[in-house]
Amino acid sequence: MGNDDHNLLGGLDSLGLGGLDSIDLFADNKVKVPQSHKKPEAPKKEEVKEEDLVFEKSYTCPACSKPFKSLTVRTGKVKAVSQDVDLRWKFKQLDPLKYDVVMCPNCGCAALIGEFPRITGKQAKLIKEKISASFKSQDPPHGKLSYDEALARYKVALANAVVRGVKASEKAFICLKAGWLLRGKAESLTPGTPGYDEEKKKTGAEEDAFLKNALEGFKNARGSESFPMCGMDEHSVDYLIAALSFRFGDYALAEKLISEILMSRVASDRLKEKARDLHEDIRAAR
Ligand SMILES: [Zn+2]
Repeated sequence: MGNDDHNLLGGLDSLGLGGLDSIDLFADNKVKVPQSHKKPEAPKKEEVKEEDLVFEKSYTCPACSKPFKSLTVRTGKVKAVSQDVDLRWKFKQLDPLKYDVVMCPNCGCAALIGEFPRITGKQAKLIKEKISASFKSQDPPHGKLSYDEALARYKVALANAVVRGVKASEKAFICLKAGWLLRGKAESLTPGTPGYDEEKKKTGAEEDAFLKNALEGFKNARGSESFPMCGMDEHSVDYLIAALSFRFGDYALAEKLISEILMSRVASDRLKEKARDLHEDIRAAR
């Protein structure tokens, strides 16, 4: 599986998708790369109930044609409070990443919220054959999603993306968001509770596995796809690759991309500032 022996798509047996762990994520895209320097933060108290910040949006499934509802974050209700070095936003009231996958509870057709309406008829047929055939229908979620429920949805979306034969960038984006989701999960754990250390370690290893695949996918996409990519311009993608390369020890690539961003006439001042900060981090780590 990719460049890491971590079982990226494991743990889906209860959904009927227990055989996915041998999928090679980027096998049909061709084109590789150790650790977080972010300190864990204390869990925050929720001022507003998460259930009040999401609503049930209606969809019709492109694969099984049945209507279903998917929990969606109400726009304008959540405020970003900070951004990590790899561009993940942190929010005050809830983690919106939990709601970024739309999944049909009947047949397992799933994608990131922006991609779901773009599933083609040909892709729907492939999903029916390769996902729905073994997917065990679920009770639709109500109220809110736990981190583990959200993670399972990301894994199903990733399996769908492989089956649909999408571009490397789309798979990389799912991996990136799943990695960020796991960081949110790790931050939500309460130190001192039973099993905390073990769970934290396991969650961190899973985050690394997803982010390594995200890095591989974006490096792959950078040389073969056009921009904008997943809503990002070329310099933002380069910055993201630099941040992930630094995380996983490829300082040379990170520095090369950073210097290109700093010399660019079109990269935004905000991105250049982030690139300078990252450069400082790399120098301090060397
Ligand atoms: Zn369906």
